[in-house]
Amino acid sequence: MRTPEDYQLHEINYVMEHFGHLMTEVERAARDAIMLFQGSQAHITFDTKLDENVANAARFALKDGAQVFRRRTTERILSTHRDQVYANACPKCGRLPATPKAKLCIWCSHTWFDGA
Ligand SMILES: [Zn+2]
Repeated sequence: MRTPEDYQLHEINYVMEHFGHLMTEVERAARDAIMLFQGSQAHITFDTKLDENVANAARFALKDGAQVFRRRTTERILSTHRDQVYANACPKCGRLPATPKAKLCIWCSHTWFDGA
């Protein structure tokens, strides 16, 4: 069964996957960072050449872990760009479908292929 926690995770994944253009340079760098763990020690590296200030800010953004970073970034984007993120929300239940182009709600099974 789908729970409110499932929806919260979906909202985060949806923003992270499809709304990178609304992220700051630091947020994008943090999203794309590679985190390697040795025990509880995280080593954060980047596969593209970054300005040192951006890299440091991205490391700082990840200091509480990737999940916390993803949730915070999603909250920030929703607070300023909610209309854009929710442009393709289900007309029936208001939740986000699988992708910004999907016309089938994965939460209530409503479809709106004909624009209805
Ligand atoms: Zn729905």
